[in-house]
Amino acid sequence: MNNIPTDRALPPRIERLHELARNLWWTWQTGSRSIFKYIDKGLWEACNHNPVKMMKQLPEERLHEVANDPVFLRNYDGLLETLDDTIERRESWFVRRYPEHRDRTIAYFSAEFGLHISLPIYSGGLGVLAGDHCKEASDLGVPLVGIGFIYPLGYFKQRINAEGRQEAIYERFDYNAAPIEPVFSHEAGNGPLRFQMNGRVIHLAVWRVRVGAVTLYLMDTDVEENEPWDRELSARLYGGDQETRIRQEIILGIGGVRLLHELGIEPTVCHANEGHAAFLLLERIRVLVQQGLSFDEAAKQVRETTVFTTHTPVPAGHDAFPFHMIEEHFSHYWGELSLTREEFLALGEHPDGYGGKNFNMTALALRLSGRRNGVSRLHGQVSREMWHSLWPEGTVDEVPIGHITNGVHTPSWVAPELERLYSRHLGYDWRLHHDDPALWDRVMEIPDEDLWNVHCELKGLLLGVMRERIRRSWTRDAVGPLRALTAGPFLDPNALTIGFARRFATYKRALLIFSDLVRLIGLLNSEFKPVQIVFAGKAHPADLPGRSLIQEINRLAREHNVAGRIAFIEDYDMRVAKYLVRGVDIWLNTPRRPLEASGTSGQKASLNGVPNLSILDGWWFEGYQQVNGWAIDPGFTAPTEEAQDAADANALYDVLESQVVPLFFDRDSQGIPRGWVRTMKEAIRTNAPVFSTRRMVREYAEKMYIPAIRAAAGRE
Ligand SMILES: *Cc1c(COP(=O)(O)O)cnc(C)c1O
Repeated sequence: MNNIPTDRALPPRIERLHELARNLWWTWQTGSRSIFKYIDKGLWEACNHNPVKMMKQLPEERLHEVANDPVFLRNYDGLLETLDDTIERRESWFVRRYPEHRDRTIAYFSAEFGLHISLPIYSGGLGVLAGDHCKEASDLGVPLVGIGFIYPLGYFKQRINAEGRQEAIYERFDYNAAPIEPVFSHEAGNGPLRFQMNGRVIHLAVWRVRVGAVTLYLMDTDVEENEPWDRELSARLYGGDQETRIRQEIILGIGGVRLLHELGIEPTVCHANEGHAAFLLLERIRVLVQQGLSFDEAAKQVRETTVFTTHTPVPAGHDAFPFHMIEEHFSHYWGELSLTREEFLALGEHPDGYGGKNFNMTALALRLSGRRNGVSRLHGQVSREMWHSLWPEGTVDEVPIGHITNGVHTPSWVAPELERLYSRHLGYDWRLHHDDPALWDRVMEIPDEDLWNVHCELKGLLLGVMRERIRRSWTRDAVGPLRALTAGPFLDPNALTIGFARRFATYKRALLIFSDLVRLIGLLNSEFKPVQIVFAGKAHPADLPGRSLIQEINRLAREHNVAGRIAFIEDYDMRVAKYLVRGVDIWLNTPRRPLEASGTSGQKASLNGVPNLSILDGWWFEGYQQVNGWAIDPGFTAPTEEAQDAADANALYDVLESQVVPLFFDRDSQGIPRGWVRTMKEAIRTNAPVFSTRRMVREYAEKMYIPAIRAAAGRE
């Protein structure tokens, strides 16, 4: 599989090191992280924990040394054996439970995948969820392949400038330093794939990414055969205008189905993660109609074997296109489905919210897929209300949209320091059955001191990472003192540290905690019980209100009466998220209910013993159990948005002042906050086994994939 021409020759004894470096399995495998670190710790750090990059720079002598180092070789052989077992899937949950279906394929289509910072093809929660879904599918042996894009300019990197404003920087992606292998491209020796749609040809390079046993295929239009404007099509994630967006989505859905066929992969089930990929439904129907089925027969088959997950109750979060754009791209296409123009447009027709109608990708996906879900219990309910108009004959409760609550990939998000503590107390093999609630009951037996000490260590790490970033931007980019001040150099390791990091969409109300400055300042400047807040997050470059929230936080963070106690970390990504969710004391979330579909960052925090303080929305509506964190709940629904914001803010200050702060600072003679540690343990115990992708992917398999496979098998 060493088919990247630039891969260097290795000593034969360690030839498969390239495989370990290129399979993202290493990212959640403790042993492989340490094997790369062992080879060259300095280089490992310098390469930003990117083994592909590191492999290119390792000195020849060092490779020969480790090829003769028995300690290294023992780990190396052990890891490869485990990797081979993983890829074989023989002992996996899925194959043991459904041996008759082991050779089926489920194709998972997503516009973004958050797997590792060396592959910048995600913007936030949706992508990280897709990445975690793939990692878990590998752990469980679910036969999944992923379909998505390489975006050569990725999602933007965020800088906060001297005025406290967000600047978006697009850095070109280094193909040579990424964990990808060419499938269709000149590098692969076969040239790009031709994709034809409505009489136009677009050439696609295709790259393979290995995620344990799961393979991802990423399409890329940046090839020289394409016209300059077509090369740009996949340049940025969520970067273009509506025209770029529809063409990306045509490639994702229709191109993706054709790509799989070209690869000889015939998926039994397709899973559209979000409406972005909904055109895949049309293409699957087209293939069947071309084989002689009527549209209705084809649609019935496709419905039975397609899963669709909707991800947001925010109306603007659903892609919709004006009908003329659909006509322009699909006028040669609907005939191949045996549909008229009117019948075709009706598949996606939906009110546009301004008295007119347009072609809505979620409506299209909901009409044509037979297995539909929201991403938390509350979001399932909200989605049934939101899409009632598609099934007007029945009641809201009869709308056929269920829910599968999101989770996080436990091995990826648990801090190594805690992983070791859990191994000591839950059993060395806890990772093998980490969705068993009984296992987590043992967390209550961890000595308070041990858990508290690890937590303080992780908090120190976060503050250290922040200080190092400030030092670097001070020395390298010569940022001004005010910008340096707002990056958190004066954060106090003993203050109660609140973490708030997410996309800066207005419904997430990042400024809620600033509603009453007098009360906030009282908390921050308390002499004996000080509180501080760490913020991070990006606003989409076109989201002006979101961007002004960032600016406002950075402005407030410079005010004399709070300066030093409010910090904003630049460029929120999976790495920043990793340090934050384990390094703060409490995780704050203040969405305008019920607009948070699920949220997953709070689940990551819980897993690391960081309790949530959140509106009862999304996953926390299910997760909150009094003893495992706090609810921000005024106890009533206000008549207007403003009144609700005021009531929620008041409830937030009340719970901080009367419960959170006193409990955190209630120390015994050894300085341990016993009551707080108990809440930390409850957060871990109650949430870790439930809000994980282990539980989530099993649910997708049992409720969605297997019934779909059975329906397909029934017709064969
Ligand atoms: C987990 C994660 C998210 C999702 O967090 P929410 O709680 O859904 O806002 C977003 N971005 C990054 C980088 C993450 O790691």
